[in-house]
Amino acid sequence: MKIGFIGLGNMGGPMAANLAKAGHEVMGFDLAAAPPEGVQRAASAAEAATGAAVVITMLPNGAILRAVAGELIPAMAPGAVLCDCSTVDVESARAVAEMAAAAGLGALDAPVSGGVGGASAGTLTFMVGGTDAAFATVLPLFEVMGQKAVHCGAAGAGQAAKICNNMILGVTMIATCEAFALAEKLGLEAQKLFDVVSTSSGSSWSVNAYCPAPGVGPSSPADNGYKPGFAAELMLKDLRLSQQAAAGADADTPMGALAAELYGRFVEEEDGRGRDFSAMLPRLAARPHG
Ligand code: NAD
Repeated sequence: MKIGFIGLGNMGGPMAANLAKAGHEVMGFDLAAAPPEGVQRAASAAEAATGAAVVITMLPNGAILRAVAGELIPAMAPGAVLCDCSTVDVESARAVAEMAAAAGLGALDAPVSGGVGGASAGTLTFMVGGTDAAFATVLPLFEVMGQKAVHCGAAGAGQAAKICNNMILGVTMIATCEAFALAEKLGLEAQKLFDVVSTSSGSSWSVNAYCPAPGVGPSSPADNGYKPGFAAELMLKDLRLSQQAAAGADADTPMGALAAELYGRFVEEEDGRGRDFSAMLPRLAARPHG
């Protein structure tokens, strides 16, 4: 399949490389990043989109996505599908889908979970919003770049699933870090707490798969000086998207709001920037009243 790929950064680069490796003809464009092996360099987003059956975007935020979509859509062939894999606000996802539909194009919002490791290994999970027809067109590409694609509903449903998932993750990670910091003060060994919680009703992905306490549980960023992994500023971005969506939908999300506030302070006023989001544990352990 002929594919245009816009945004060849930490995630987009390896995703585009996997598509090329699988035999697709991929033309990529990025303002800064060089295309990975096997991906042809386009001179503009519009050039990458010309003649492509599917155009994939993997960009930093909704404002950039809207601007890039404005360049791509006029260049795309009738019936082609614009598939955005970035994490953006639900409104931008819906606005881009409307722009595409008005031009006779298909559109999907298909944010991912799995991080840079999953992008390289081709094991991402895609959460997808859009029509059945557009989903069917792009499914073979999701199968190359990932191991699971869930069609969540109409336009915006993929982004809704992503921010709801990451709101749970942000909240459970903070709760996990609080519990490990409290255990230490109570003289309870981190390993013992893990042994109990990981098989009890307090278990979660944050405890079992990504334990924030060093030397405990499967290998995680805590074992590597809290080098990301999933950076605290990316968690903050997703939590703020969840709060923007909650405000727009008049939904009550007090724990999500508090998690956004705590990660905001951690990233913007403390030492969280550039650290994994599980570094909330040493932050809480060091500042019990912070
Ligand atoms: P990144 O900053 O490494 O890559 C973004 C790329 O977009 C950069 O190379 C940048 O030069 C390019 N870009 C910006 N504006 C552009 C434009 N107008 N035209 C062309 N290229 C442009 O970021 P990333 O880590 O690859 O993340 C991309 C998206 O994936 C984000 O929305 C992020 O929230 C989401 N995401 C990231 C992770 C992760 O672990 N990194 C996990 C899940 C989802």
